[in-house]
Formats: sequence, structure tokens, C-alpha cells
Amino acid sequence: MPDVFLSRHPLFLEHDTGPGHPECADRLRAIDAGLRERGLLDELEDRRPPQAMKADLLRVHDADYIDSVLAWRNRSGALDADTVVSPASVEASLHAAGALIDGIDAVLDNPRRTGFCLVRPPGHHAERDRAMGFCLFNNVAVGAAHAVAKHGLRRVLIFDPDVHHGNGTQNAFYRRGDVFYVSIHQSPLFPGTGRLDETGAGEGAGRNANVPLPAGLGDPEYLHITENLLLPLIAEYRPELVLFSAGFDAHLRDPLAQMEVTDDGFLRMYGMIVSTLSARGIPFLCTLEGGYSLDVIRETVPALIESVFRERFPEPGRLEPAHESARAAVTFLSGRTGNRER
Ligand SMILES: [Zn+2]
Repeated sequence: MPDVFLSRHPLFLEHDTGPGHPECADRLRAIDAGLRERGLLDELEDRRPPQAMKADLLRVHDADYIDSVLAWRNRSGALDADTVVSPASVEASLHAAGALIDGIDAVLDNPRRTGFCLVRPPGHHAERDRAMGFCLFNNVAVGAAHAVAKHGLRRVLIFDPDVHHGNGTQNAFYRRGDVFYVSIHQSPLFPGTGRLDETGAGEGAGRNANVPLPAGLGDPEYLHITENLLLPLIAEYRPELVLFSAGFDAHLRDPLAQMEVTDDGFLRMYGMIVSTLSARGIPFLCTLEGGYSLDVIRETVPALIESVFRERFPEPGRLEPAHESARAAVTFLSGRTGNRER
């Protein structure tokens, strides 16, 4: 069995977004409850992530922006309409970005090791100079930039199946060839970015793939895209590290979006990818982004972690044909991404 760790920190529970906010500490409590029910809290290594240093953040954020966030230490307020901070939020956000750095160091050190960063606040909407959509620092982008700068990696792939487009992550690497960003997201939906024809520019040309999908689609489309876009990209781009911006808000029962991915769909999707990565010896690390139904994430996140740990995923069964929008997007992107245009 692989050596699986959980990266968790008590401060992630102290980031208090106030009553009624969907991105709440109960999300992590729900995941912990599900992990405990499965006995996984005793079986898996528990890592306590350090804080990211300013030099780590500077790879994807402006100095002025970092200072403006740090100035919110021990204060409460709102950085934008839905991005709220409490006195512990800045420290929590530094540990969240630190979890990616620490986790990447851990998985690159030992090819049999992988991990799940169960962090708050999430990160993929955070821009170079702006907090956005519950996110302060772009955790996964800080991690990918660290993998390039400190470990000398030349090909990192970020897969972001969160139902919202990861605008911050795309923008961080849009002109870079060393980090390939792939997103499946509902469109139209917040943040309104992530068009199909945004495939990267300059050194990053052909190394950004967005699959925007209309509301109401689910397992057949996500699995079609995985099989026909993502797996071929992995074979062709040959990433040295894969980071999952693991959002679970594309689930059928998520309150913030209208996609219809089931528990089984998530497990089959990750199963296809993880078994491919394992067969190729490619290290990977997951970090939590969205997912706002407490019942869903209590079940789905621990089920995914257990599947990775026990190397047991659902059998690929029969599927309805994917909706035309997904098939057309895969065809479009297959001709324009990867190494083909380079
Ligand atoms: Zn989301």
C-alpha cells in the first residue's frame, strides 16, 4: 500500500468566516468525522504543515499584496464581497500554502508516498494581487512554483475539477511551459473565467486546457474528459508531478453549483488518473479546494483517501454517452494542447 499522509493544522479550524458562510470550519470537521468512521485517522500519517515563507509566496503573489494580507493578522474584516478574515485567518492561510510546500517535498522525496492537504482557506481563485472567492493565497500555485524553483521540475500538471474555474492558478502559469493547468468547470458560474479557447500563450502556449460545461452534466462527461483528454495529456506532457486542486462542489448535492457528479463518478475519475500516475511512477498530491455540502464531503473525501490508500477504485462500468459539449471540447483541445503546437 502507498504511504499516505494527511496534512492538517488546528488553525485551519480557527479561520472563522462567520455565520452562514459556506466555506466554514465544519467542512474540515465533517471530513475528519468521515475519516474517523473509516479508521483512517489512526492508519495514516498526520503531518502538521509549517507556514509558507514570504519568499515562497512571492513566486506567485506581488509583495504589496502579500503585505496587505499580512496586515490583516489578528483582525477581522472582508477582503472582497465573499472573502472574510478573522483574527487567525492570516496564520491559517500561511499554513495552507505551507502544506503544499511541505507536501510536495514529502512526495518528491519518496515515490511511494502521497498525501492530502486538508486545508482552509482554499486557494485557486487567489490572484497575483488580489484575494477572491474565499481564497487568500493560491496554495496550489505556490506549491507548483516551489516544485519548479526548489526541485528543478520542468513539467508540473495541475488538474482542477473544482466546479469553479481556478482563475488565479490559470493566470499564474498562463505564459509558462513548466506548469500545465487543466480545469473542468461549470459555465456560466463564478468567477466567469475559463474559456475553452484560452490555451496558454508564449512559453505556455498549448499548456492550459479549460473544459467549461453547461449545468446539469455529470459522470459521463467528467469520465469522458478524463479518458480522452487528461490521460492522453499525461502520456504526452509526461508530468514529473501532478497536483490536484481537489474541489468537490461539482457533486450532485452541492449547494453552490448545478453539476451532477456522483460519489461513484469522483472515485472512478480519480481512479483512472491515480492508477495511470502510479503505473508511470509519477508523484501526486491533493489539496482541498471547494465542496460545500457537509454530507457530501464527509463521505466523498474520506472515500477517495481510502481508495488511494487501499489502491481500490470502482471498476470502470458502462456509461451514458457524454454530452456533445464535452465531446466537442475534448476534440478542440486535443488539437491545441500538449506538445503538439510546440
Ligand atoms: Zn469551487
